[in-house]
Amino acid sequence: MNKQNIIDRFIKYVTIDTESDPNNPAFPSTEKQWDLAKILEQELIAIGMEDVELDKNCYLMATLPSNIDYEVPTIGFVAHIDTSPDYTGANVKPQIHENYDGEDIVLNKEQNIILSPSYFEDLLLYKGQTLITTDGTTLLGADDKAGVTEIVSAMEYLIQNPEIKHGKIRICFTPDEEVGKGAHKFDVDKFGAQWAYTMDGSQIGELEYENFNAAGAVITINGKIVHPGYAKGKMVNSMTIASQFINALPAKEVPEHTTGYEGFFHLHSIEGKVEQTILRYIIRDHDMDLFQKRKETMKSIVKKINEEIGSNAIQVEIKDQYFNMREKVEPVMYIVDIAEEVMKDLGITPLIKPIRGGTDGSQLSFKGLPCPNIFAGGHNFHGRYEYVPVESIMKASEVIVGIAEKITEKFK
Ligand SMILES: [Zn+2]
Repeated sequence: MNKQNIIDRFIKYVTIDTESDPNNPAFPSTEKQWDLAKILEQELIAIGMEDVELDKNCYLMATLPSNIDYEVPTIGFVAHIDTSPDYTGANVKPQIHENYDGEDIVLNKEQNIILSPSYFEDLLLYKGQTLITTDGTTLLGADDKAGVTEIVSAMEYLIQNPEIKHGKIRICFTPDEEVGKGAHKFDVDKFGAQWAYTMDGSQIGELEYENFNAAGAVITINGKIVHPGYAKGKMVNSMTIASQFINALPAKEVPEHTTGYEGFFHLHSIEGKVEQTILRYIIRDHDMDLFQKRKETMKSIVKKINEEIGSNAIQVEIKDQYFNMREKVEPVMYIVDIAEEVMKDLGITPLIKPIRGGTDGSQLSFKGLPCPNIFAGGHNFHGRYEYVPVESIMKASEVIVGIAEKITEKFK
């Protein structure tokens, strides 16, 4: 893997703005995602990929044909081209810091924005390496352009080194992952892989096949406004009932008090007046039974409050969002084992842990394409402190090459 080649490629991708938009129902949610998709389409053709096809929904697929004379499973690699709408991705000016010395990095002198290992301790893992950071005014977009870089570079490497044996490999770059729609129009049949890996994790070594079960809940409370001076026995203050509901949920089962496999209720917005209050929650749990219980807990609190106040003032609507891919991956656990073995072969310590979130891979797994997630190398996603060590991008590319090679041994 050529380091400069990787740096150049990554910088080319991150300087193209591909921010997605959660409020636009169009697909893709922003036109500018086509800019990178079209460049990648040309690049894939140029490096010698086959069946390069950018479809009408902005999904770019391509094939690296097998170079062996026996059948092995077709596998896939997936990354997303959009960046998070949480922070601007326009005019990204990547800064390269060679031979990182373990000290504070001044991202922006005028605005005094500093990336410091005293706050972001993970930086110290990368002493002596080449870090790419922002200039403090945008996100970087290593999520997930590091993943895109890794897949393109690994394919190029396999094409340029035909002595490395591999089966048929399919790759796909998707739009709109950051707005939860990256898997929605993914044509799993056309992709035609037996399983795939998203290159969309963070720290080097990460390997994930468990994610949250997820639902969204909207609690609507209807009150009655009456002149406060003449309100006795008449006014119903929806905000007071809302606080009753909030306090009835377990106080410690919230994001700021939970980690690992612990689930939570997260109140993420309140809109309230006397007449009406709307609470918006997300519900998360890795365990399906506990997940279902959380939904029941909300419903029973609502029922109890309505009984107490003798009306139907409070209503709850819960919608499932995505499910833990574990149940789809466990029956084919060897696909995780292969990735783990390859990491160990390369001297990378695998970090297998549950994702406290979702991935495109979970939706793809439920669409019939089991899809664990592999590190892409970046840290501090979705903000100005995002950074990525070039060495981690190189290692992730080597993992892709290693998996391709390992399949030919495992299925001989
Ligand atoms: Zn991502």
